[in-house]
Amino acid sequence: MIQLKSPRELETMAAGGRILAATHQHVKPAVQPGISTWELDAMVESFIRSHAGATPSFKGLYGFPAAACISINDEIVHGIPSRKRILAAGDIVTIDIGVHYGGFHTDSAWTYPVGAIAAGTQRLLEVTEASLWAGIAVTRLGNHIGDIGAAVEAVVEQAGFTVVRDLVGHGVGVNMHEDPQVPNHGKPKRGPKLQEGMTLAIEPMVNVGGAATRTLADKWTIVTLDGTMSAHFEHTVAITADGPRVLTTL
Ligand code: MG
Ligand code: MG
Repeated sequence: MIQLKSPRELETMAAGGRILAATHQHVKPAVQPGISTWELDAMVESFIRSHAGATPSFKGLYGFPAAACISINDEIVHGIPSRKRILAAGDIVTIDIGVHYGGFHTDSAWTYPVGAIAAGTQRLLEVTEASLWAGIAVTRLGNHIGDIGAAVEAVVEQAGFTVVRDLVGHGVGVNMHEDPQVPNHGKPKRGPKLQEGMTLAIEPMVNVGGAATRTLADKWTIVTLDGTMSAHFEHTVAITADGPRVLTTL
C-alpha cells in the first residue's frame, strides 16, 4: 500500500533530509586514499547522532551491522564498513545513508571519487548522477512510476552504460522501504500513477559492463558479475502540486 504524506509530514521528512545531506557534506572531504570504510562509517554515525532525535536508519535494519552501506568499485550496494577496507587513489566509493528523524526515514546515496580517477570512471559518475536528475525531472503529477525508469534508462543507455535491474528504488517514509517499487527501467505511462504526497527514493545503479549481479559470501555485498565498476546516486523526492521536491538536500 502506498502511504501518502501530509504537507506537515513532508516538512518533517525535509528536516531529516537536511541532516542526511549535511552528513554527506561532512564525510565527503574525508574520502581520500588511506582511509578505511570503517572510519567513514564512524564519521557518518557520530554526525547523524549529533543532531537531537536523529539516528542512522540502516543500523540494525534487517540486521545490517553499520550506519552506512559503503561499497567500493565493482560493489553496487550494501558493502559492510570494515577496518580492512582501505580506499586507494582511482577507486570510487558509494556511501549510502539513511536518517530516521521525527518518525520518518530519508535515504540518499552518493558515489565519490577517491583521489584522481580514470576518465571513463569519471564519466560513469557523471552519467549516473545525470540519470538521477532525469528521473527526478519527470517525478510529477500526471506521470507514472514507469516514466521515472524510462527517463533514467534513456540517459544511461545513450552513454553506453547499463542499468542494474535486480535492485530498485522504493517508497520511503515511516518505513525505510515502502510501496511502490521504483525500477530504473520501464515504459512511460506504466505502473502506479504518481500522486501528491508520495515520497520516493529514486536511486539509479549503473554499471560500466553488464547488468548481472551476484551477492558475496558475506550475504550483504552485491557486486557486478563481470567485475566492472558501478555507481549509485540516490535522493528522496516528494511529489507536490508544484513538482518534484528533493528532500535530501540542504
Ligand atoms: Mg539508500
Ligand atoms: Mg534506497
